[in-house]
Amino acid sequence: MGDFRPSVIIIGSGMAGLSAGCYAQMNGFTSRIFEQNEYSGGVCTSWQKDRYTVNGCIHWLVGSSPTNSFHQVWQELGAIDGQSFMDHDRFFTFESKSGQTLTLFTDVDCLEQHLLEIAPEDTKEIQNLIQAIQSIARCDYSPTLHEGFQAWLENIRKAFTHLPLFRVIMKWGLVSIRDYADRLRSPVLKEALLHFWHPEMSMIILLMTLAFAHRRTAGYPLGGSSTWIQRIADRYSDLGGSLHLNSRVSKILVKEQENEAYGIRLASGEEYYAEYIISAADAHHTIYQILEGNYQDERITAPFEQLKLFPPILFVSFGVNCPFEDVPASVVGLSFPLEQVISVGEESVDRLTFQIYNFDPELAPAGKTVLTCMVGTEYDYWYDLYQHPAAYQAKKEEILNQMIRALEQRFPSISGQIEMKDLATPMTYYRYSSNFRASYEGWLPTPRALRTKIKHTLPGLSRFYQIGHWTEPGGGLPPSALSGRKVIQKICHRERLSFQTSKPHDKEALVI
Ligand SMILES: Cc1cc2nc3c(=O)[nH]c(=O)nc-3n(C[C@H](O)[C@H](O)[C@H](O)COP(=O)(O)OP(=O)(O)OC[C@H]3O[C@@H](n4cnc5c(N)ncnc54)[C@H](O)[C@@H]3O)c2cc1C
Repeated sequence: MGDFRPSVIIIGSGMAGLSAGCYAQMNGFTSRIFEQNEYSGGVCTSWQKDRYTVNGCIHWLVGSSPTNSFHQVWQELGAIDGQSFMDHDRFFTFESKSGQTLTLFTDVDCLEQHLLEIAPEDTKEIQNLIQAIQSIARCDYSPTLHEGFQAWLENIRKAFTHLPLFRVIMKWGLVSIRDYADRLRSPVLKEALLHFWHPEMSMIILLMTLAFAHRRTAGYPLGGSSTWIQRIADRYSDLGGSLHLNSRVSKILVKEQENEAYGIRLASGEEYYAEYIISAADAHHTIYQILEGNYQDERITAPFEQLKLFPPILFVSFGVNCPFEDVPASVVGLSFPLEQVISVGEESVDRLTFQIYNFDPELAPAGKTVLTCMVGTEYDYWYDLYQHPAAYQAKKEEILNQMIRALEQRFPSISGQIEMKDLATPMTYYRYSSNFRASYEGWLPTPRALRTKIKHTLPGLSRFYQIGHWTEPGGGLPPSALSGRKVIQKICHRERLSFQTSKPHDKEALVI
């Protein structure tokens, strides 16, 4: 093993960029991360308004406890020590138009009993669903942490040891939530599952989410998203990494003859050079703007033409002078139907799901609570409106007032208790993250997307890698973090170095 350790430039300090930076430092590379914003974390963020903290991201974090092997990655990234997690007993509470309440409990036995009571006409389908959740929960379903041949070997071994799990994946992977809901006879169960998340997602996402919640390894980090991801930014600094905030990258420098990436140019004109360039920024922005569309082929363009995106959202939040003691805490909150629909562009919203943070005292002053709600919307509508600032502001205000009226219907007299209101639109997401069409999590995990493999390299460009939720269909924090880890493993392999990791308390292990 030689002594040479390459230098690495990373574009973007979201989950993926911070992860790549930490593993680069653990392996003795010199790394720099360039981030366009004045803060790190990307879409994994919170913000302060008045005396409230709006948690803008994490509802559940897979690997929050050691019952999932992804926990090891969070330990390496310094995201566990000193962090408390909340494991909920409920996933969400769904109030139907007919006045019934269905609760998705996180304990599988409670869930089975409750669903059979609510929808006895669907006994067979409910038992199939429960068996599938149990099969996943019995195994530790988490992707391999190895790369290359080792990863292949581990996957082969798992195919034998986790046979029931593989049967579940084969059976459910190609079924969308909508397909499954179509088989159900109970209107309330059908409606609740269609509102679980996006109905076009593969059922395997729903099953895994409930299995992880059952194993109590998908907890909510108390204090919210920014506090949690700041631990990883701190870990990067402690490892000696160099984070450049307010530094937007406008170009990746490429040696023309060799087609080899060798540096970046910032919007300010400054240039920096390194042996490897990793983009942890949005894929479309990287390929078509920073690299000017020079490195693409059908493999690169096809996903943009064929796969669906997580739709952009309106992220509405309120600070309320009320403790909401009577509302049971859950992973995603309380879903209730509206008496009057809310119109946003071409779309009509007839139901809202509010997360009621009565379980996180760090987000609000004593006796008060933060409420948030994510509403799917259209990118083009908001893009056009944004060109007319007065109309854009007026629409935001109108939506906030409609949301207050909707809340008033479920919690009478709440409007007099609202002390803070805030609305982030798709344009807010686009301005702060540059994510393609303001998608908040990349490719929607439809059955088709889950069979699509996105490479970390671009055709004809060497010494360049791309990472982040756009390289991992389905997105999310664990896959984004893992993509950063994998790319440093690939670079180690290329440089004939053995890949090293450490945990914050055993820094001496860094001596390679
Ligand atoms: C509302 C919401 C709820 C979510 N809930 C969960 C959840 O409960 N659990 C979960 O696991 N995941 C959740 N996610 C998804 C998860 O947060 C994302 O998939 C993950 O954080 C993506 O990280 P990333 O690093 O790939 O991308 P990003 O976070 O988008 O980071 C990209 C970074 O690159 C920077 N950048 C872009 N262009 C440039 C440039 N030219 N120069 C310099 N910097 C640039 C951006 O500013 C940004 O910081 C949620 C996301 C949202 C928005």
